[in-house]
Amino acid sequence: MARYTAPVCRLCRREGMKLFLKGSKCFSDKCPIEKRNFAPGQHGKDRKAKVVGYGLQLREKQKTKRIYFTQEGQFRNYFEKAARTKGVTGYMLLQQLERRLDSVVYRVGFAISRRQARQLVRHGHIAVDGRKVNIPSYQVSQGEEISVRENSKSLPILAAAKEFASHQTAPTWLEVDRDNYKARVQSLPKREDIQLPVNEQLIVELYSK
Ligand code: SF4
Repeated sequence: MARYTAPVCRLCRREGMKLFLKGSKCFSDKCPIEKRNFAPGQHGKDRKAKVVGYGLQLREKQKTKRIYFTQEGQFRNYFEKAARTKGVTGYMLLQQLERRLDSVVYRVGFAISRRQARQLVRHGHIAVDGRKVNIPSYQVSQGEEISVRENSKSLPILAAAKEFASHQTAPTWLEVDRDNYKARVQSLPKREDIQLPVNEQLIVELYSK
């Protein structure tokens, strides 16, 4: 599947809610959801039918996929791995998404959005236990230290992200030292640590058909 290159705000409008994909803009009155909370496209305003059954399951999957910027094949792989893992499948799915390195970089406040976090990882600015890791889907493990590499600490986007993150609290499963751009994975995220407007059971039902 091709990489998504259209304006990301359309994704929020399609889901009818803020998915917080653009950092500070999401909290300002420039957010398109504030002004045009209807689906994009010529007939967007007309699509008001209540979504039920399969449609609801599909929307829940699309929404989750979009929050984490994963593509269909990769998302499906996460589900299949979750289904093989001991535990509640929906929670195992969300845990894998949340353990992605790009998501962790965003959660600890080194980037203002998951997209920006992905770019930081891809461009080699992030290390895990002192070694450069440039794979956004890398799964962090308990005890690992995530840090910004020494030569990258002066990047202007890091300073902006630090300012942005100062108004937010990091999840309790991550111990963060923002001044030194370091964080440690204290434990793997529990379901209650994953604050998302998502009903993962609907995704499980969709893929279990
Ligand atoms: Fe979504 Fe943020 Fe764009 Fe608003 S500004 S529509 S929350 S990505």
